[in-house]
Amino acid sequence: MVNEERRKTSESVQNMGSPQRSRYLMTCNLCQNKNISIDYKNTDFLRKFVSGTFKIKSGNRNTLCKMHQRDVSEAVKRARFMALMPYTRLQTAKRS
Ligand SMILES: [Zn+2]
Repeated sequence: MVNEERRKTSESVQNMGSPQRSRYLMTCNLCQNKNISIDYKNTDFLRKFVSGTFKIKSGNRNTLCKMHQRDVSEAVKRARFMALMPYTRLQTAKRS
C-alpha cells in the first residue's frame, strides 16, 4: 500500500510539469523557413527580437530554439558594437 501510494505521488509529480510545459512549447520560426539568414547588418529584422528598450528578448518570448536564439543574440550584439543598433533607449533620444 505504502509503495503504491509513493509511486502514485511520484507519477503525479512527474506528470505535473509535462502537460503544462507542452502548452508553451512552440516551434522555432527560423527553423521553419530556412531562407532567412541572420545578419547583423539587417537591423530591421533584428529589431523583432529586441524589446522596446532594446534589450534582447529571451528565447522563450522570441519563440526561437537555442541555436537560433544564440545566433540572433550574437547578431544583435555585433550590430550594437558596429553602432547599427542602440544599446539602450536613451541612445535613440534626439538631442537638439
Ligand atoms: Zn531554430
